[in-house]
Formats: sequence, C-alpha cells, structure tokens
Amino acid sequence: MNESAQQTGQADLTERPVLVLNAGSSSLKFQLLVPESGEVSASGVIERIGESGSDVADHAAALQSVRARLADDGVDLDAVPLRAVGHRVVHGGPDFSEPVLIDDDVVARIQALSPLAPLHNPAAVTGIEAARSHFEVPHVAVFDTAFFSTLPIEASTYAVPRDLAQKHAIRRYGFHGTSHHFVSQASAELLGCPVEELNQVVLHLGNGCSASAIRGGVAIETSMGLTPLQGLVMGTRSGDVDPGLHAFLSRQVGLSIDEIDDLLNKRSGLLGLSGVNDFRELSQRVDAGDEAATLAFDVFVHRLKHYVGAYLAQLGRLDILVFTAGIGQNSPRLRAALADGLDGLGIAVDPARNEAGGGSFTEPSVISPDASRVIVAVVPTNEELAIARQTADLVS
Ligand code: ADP
Repeated sequence: MNESAQQTGQADLTERPVLVLNAGSSSLKFQLLVPESGEVSASGVIERIGESGSDVADHAAALQSVRARLADDGVDLDAVPLRAVGHRVVHGGPDFSEPVLIDDDVVARIQALSPLAPLHNPAAVTGIEAARSHFEVPHVAVFDTAFFSTLPIEASTYAVPRDLAQKHAIRRYGFHGTSHHFVSQASAELLGCPVEELNQVVLHLGNGCSASAIRGGVAIETSMGLTPLQGLVMGTRSGDVDPGLHAFLSRQVGLSIDEIDDLLNKRSGLLGLSGVNDFRELSQRVDAGDEAATLAFDVFVHRLKHYVGAYLAQLGRLDILVFTAGIGQNSPRLRAALADGLDGLGIAVDPARNEAGGGSFTEPSVISPDASRVIVAVVPTNEELAIARQTADLVS
C-alpha cells in the first residue's frame, strides 16, 4: 500500500472508491465508484485491445488508458487512493462459490478453469495480472457463477455418464449470478419484505439472457448451464436446441466443432432469425410488419414463457416475477407479451404501469395490477455496484 493510502484514516475509507474491471478478450470495461453511496466518478470501456491498427497493445496498455480516462474525468488516484479493485470473472467452476481475495494461487486456479470458459477466463486472467502490477491495492475476484453454486444437485446434473461428468466438472453452473443476486435483494427491498420469505423468478434480458428461480434468497434453478449458451433465446446465441443438432450439422453440413460453436454463439438467436440482434431495432421492424423480426420476437417470448412456467412448477408458489437488464427494463412490449395469457397463473401486467415514463425504468417499480396474485416488477440491475460492494465487504 502506498504512503498516502496508509495515511488515510478509517473514517475516510468509505469515501475511497473501488475500481471495477471487466476484462474481455479485446475490451476492458471499467467503473470507479464508492460502494456505500453508489456514486460513480468515472466509467467507460477500452476497446480493440491487441487488434491490428489499435493504439492499445495489451491489457497493461489498456490500464494506462483507464488511468488517462480517469484523469480526463478529473479523478486523481493519488489524491483519493483506491480502496481495492474488483474483477468480474465469468467462470468460477466448482471451486469458487464466493468472492475471493486474489493471490497467485487464485490466478492460477482461474486460469485452470479456462477449458470451461475458453473465451472469458484467459481474458480475465490477463486483465487481473495487468491490474495487479498497475494498482498495489487488494484485488478481489467476483464470479458470475457463484450465486448458482446453491443449485440442488438434481438441477445442476446433466444426465450423462457420471464418471465422465465428474472427471471434467461437467454440470450446470449458471451465469449472470451477480445480477440475479443483486436484483433479488433489491426486489425484496422494493416490497419491504425479507428476501427469505419470497419465491422469485428473475428474468435478466440483455444481450445475454437468463432466467432464475430463487427461493428465500437461494437460487434453485437457472437457465444457463455448463456455458452461457443454454436456455433463453439471446441476441446472437441460440439458447436451447436439440443436442442432436451438433451431430446433424457435423454430418450433414460438414461443419467443424469450432464452426458449430461459432454458429450457435455468434450467428444465432435474434440475429440468426431476423438479421438484427439489437432488441430496439427488432421492435422497430416488428412495428413495420417485418415477418422475420415478428417470428424472432415470438420465438423469444415463447421460450421465456416456457421457463417461467417451469420455474413456477419448481417453486410451487410464486410471489414476484422480476424483469431486469436492457430489454427487461426498457421494453414494455416484451413485458406485456410475456404476461399475455398468464392470468390463470396469477401473472398480469397493468398497461399504464408497464408503459409509465415510456416504459423505461431506472428505479424499481411494480407493474402488476393491485389485486394480482403474483407481483410483477421491473428492477434495474447494477452489476458494477454489486461487484464493488462485494469487493469492499471482503477487504474491510
Ligand atoms: P449487456 O448484456 O451487454 O449488458 P444490456 O443489458 O445493456 O446488455 O441490454 C442490451 C439489450 O437491451 C439490447 O438488445 C438493446 O437493444 C436492449 N434495449 C436497450 N434499450 C432498449 C429499449 N428502449 N427498448 C428495447 N430494447 C432495448
């Protein structure tokens, strides 16, 4: 710890910001914020890291850019030293069910989980290594899978040979856990009810989409699996397909495993069905009567209903259904379509509440009618704040 940090008393600690980093293979998202107040002093993304023609050669150079961007925003880290750095790590595998303080051993274990997340974990390790040499403060890893480590074994187990699954740690892990956790806590606050007393279904609908069933604050089901490809239809990912599709594409179309992986992750979902992956643009095309866009929207809603129904059965009783992330928070059309025809299950949306303020929500809000059996709500997610809080908790 540097001298100015040591001189900063405990009273000031809660004013010192946490830097949250989310390293992708060619990008680095950052946000500097105070976890207690939620005040954000800077945020942004460094893109095209390591690409030809880019000024940013690697993640170490990207951190120099972060420092420069902070300085542009008038943030002087020497005057208000960092408390800690929180890193988003996609895959915690079977090892990590809680945030951890990063040391060399943790870095090695995150690296060792790369076969489970070949695109994400190596990038996270590169970002962590660069940040550790750049900022001499505690570093914390927060895992996207951690919140789902509580899935009952019958929910996390694939029906494949047990010895093979055990040897390679093949099971359902779930992702977006930081968001599902944060939103399920915030929805309990919205209702003024202890989270322990609530059965919830949370729908995180952004570029990636996932659903979860949460009983008393504990996740019991989620739609993503070994990888983030399983489950709901997403911007570019197929979500659920017949697992036999892989063999079919290999034998009939002659695609390699890498080509199939690419097809299902990057060229499927809304994009594959309609030619656009952005939900706003998709909605405009639906309004214009575009047939492919309408089918994509309908497939998206159909799959979502499928999961809501399944989770109602798993929970036995549903108290609150929560929409979050870019689509969930901003598309009244999607929310209305999901609720359409579900009044028999106690799920309904009040049109005026759903469309209040243009249907975009920045605060937690109930959108179901007063007499509804199930409360339907929109609760904005904030993964950076959640990571910053978990980081601060660990280093305090
Ligand atoms: P990420 O998963 O990358 O964090 P977001 O949570 O920001 O993504 O969600 C992005 C999605 O939200 C995109 O499909 C985008 O079109 C959609 N979205 C954002 N604003 C709106 C809006 N006003 N209406 C409909 N969809 C929206």
